[in-house]
Amino acid sequence: MKRRKTKTVTVGSIKLGTKYPVVVQTMTKVFTTDVNACLRQIRQLETAGCGMVRIAVPTKADTEAFAKIVAKTTIPVVADVHFSAARAIEAIEAGAAKIRLNPGNVKDPKDIRRIIDCAKAHKIAIRIGVNEASIRDLKADVPAAKRTALMLKELKGYVSLFEKTGFDNLVLSAKSANTVRTIEVNRAIADTFEYPMHLGLTHAGLPEDAIPSSSVAIGTLLAEGIGDTIRVSIAGDPVQEIQIGRAILQSLGLEQKQGPELIVCPTCGRCQIDVVSLAKKVKRLLKGVTKPLHVAVMGCIVNGPGEAADADIAVCAGAGKGLIYKNGKKIATVEESNLLDALKQEIEKY
Ligand code: SF4
Repeated sequence: MKRRKTKTVTVGSIKLGTKYPVVVQTMTKVFTTDVNACLRQIRQLETAGCGMVRIAVPTKADTEAFAKIVAKTTIPVVADVHFSAARAIEAIEAGAAKIRLNPGNVKDPKDIRRIIDCAKAHKIAIRIGVNEASIRDLKADVPAAKRTALMLKELKGYVSLFEKTGFDNLVLSAKSANTVRTIEVNRAIADTFEYPMHLGLTHAGLPEDAIPSSSVAIGTLLAEGIGDTIRVSIAGDPVQEIQIGRAILQSLGLEQKQGPELIVCPTCGRCQIDVVSLAKKVKRLLKGVTKPLHVAVMGCIVNGPGEAADADIAVCAGAGKGLIYKNGKKIATVEESNLLDALKQEIEKY
């Protein structure tokens, strides 16, 4: 997949831009002042594959806690700043690898200039993150098409304040809760600027709503080569945000799948064994496997042999039986009641 050409921006120990992998990030969801809880959550996120973590710093006590968190964290830590230039400066001095500013609520050019000077002195990056909901000129009756233009206008005006001072260590984002608008505005940003882009929906909702809408918005843009870091925003566990973010990257081939991969047919009226229950058991079996291993569980012979040909191990159901395939070749026919054991043996051989 051809990535959009961007300049390279350094964020602590990582780099963002065309030549570097797309980074999955999220935010901590415990009080920043609870340093231990924050650090615990960051460890869980790192284990899940989080490449950079953002932390809210609404008060001075939060930027003080932020310094302690940064000191004990290896991945880059980003301060999420709203409303306050003082918080931005405190966070930079506390060791932020990047800060996020919202043009909708940090507006005074003198404040912005002070933040830029501080960011330059500490050689850190700044993300300018426009949110549809905090755009100045936005009124309830502004039609959808104009909202996209307003977001872009807000971003252009803000970026120009930075460029006038020669500061270009920028990452850009524009988020809406609306999937189509998020895609449109990010395409427009990609056409206008060469800065790396952070993708995501905002306020996307509970997992059942947020996962499909984020996957469509982020996936569409990534498939067009747009996006250098992503955040799947879910009202829920941030570890799940990382898991879904990585799954999006893996589905587009932007991240190598680690460990086993399980293909399962969705089942239909042709299905001849209990595929779902078998697949759940196979998934449990694969939990301990760290090697790349491609396993397929298929309900009948329509697509079964085709998937089996691509899999290391596959089962393709017949009436009350399963045909076991290894490296695309049929090696055994097994009664349904013995299928799990037979698959287990083959998985263990790997
Ligand atoms: Fe249906 Fe067979 Fe396809 Fe499974 S593999 S969805 S059972 S046709």
